[in-house]
Amino acid sequence: MKQHRCGTDIGFPLEACRHLEVRHHESPQKVVLSSADAQIVSDEFIMRFQTWTLVPWNRSDTFVEQLAKEDYMHDICVHGRLAGYPDGSKVTDHMISRVTLLENGEDCQTRLFQCPYCYMDYMVDAKDFGEQGFAVITTKWVNFGPGRESPDIKWRCHGTRYKDRLDVNDAACHGGEIRADFESQAEPSLEDLTSDNERRLFSTRKRRAITRAPDGRIWRWSGGARWFLDPPNSNPSIWERWLW
Ligand SMILES: [Zn+2]
Ligand SMILES: [Zn+2]
Ligand SMILES: [Zn+2]
Repeated sequence: MKQHRCGTDIGFPLEACRHLEVRHHESPQKVVLSSADAQIVSDEFIMRFQTWTLVPWNRSDTFVEQLAKEDYMHDICVHGRLAGYPDGSKVTDHMISRVTLLENGEDCQTRLFQCPYCYMDYMVDAKDFGEQGFAVITTKWVNFGPGRESPDIKWRCHGTRYKDRLDVNDAACHGGEIRADFESQAEPSLEDLTSDNERRLFSTRKRRAITRAPDGRIWRWSGGARWFLDPPNSNPSIWERWLW
């Protein structure tokens, strides 16, 4: 993604940052839905990404093993593999413990987490769909900063070469603030987005150019195992690094 410019006068098309796609994986079997949308809050460009991973219950062990073994497949930002990353606090650790709680039928409050190296808040949740399996839901809010001519730390911290831990003041300051800023004026709200995405997950998609699903949704098949929700607003390749 290119640097955005700040200010509503420029008319930065936030619509162009809206994206929704679904991938069907065969082995191991799972369906992954990812959505992206953007807001400018107090001149800062913030993106919200939500990912649903639907797994059949009889594949839950394999899924958890994969989360542990191939955690790089599920990086929520570029920092999860840093040597100094706090033990047991990677997104995959939270996903595994969330699935375990769900398996044990334990109720769990959805907690908010932060990466200590970049301006990002994220949440991990899970939901039981009975015979249809279970889903792990991750939502992240990424602050890219005000996008000035020379990028500041809020932009640079998301890059692969940026490895400085945010200092204590900064880290304390962004404890939940990014989500709060975004959600204060989010359209749709987190609640609405989450229930929309849940319905989209179970929509009908066929391997043909266009599927008009009974629920009224229109899916464009991009070949292979990937679909986009119509209308396509953005070039999906922009978000390749951020969706998984
Ligand atoms: Zn990070
Ligand atoms: Zn980041
Ligand atoms: Zn802050």
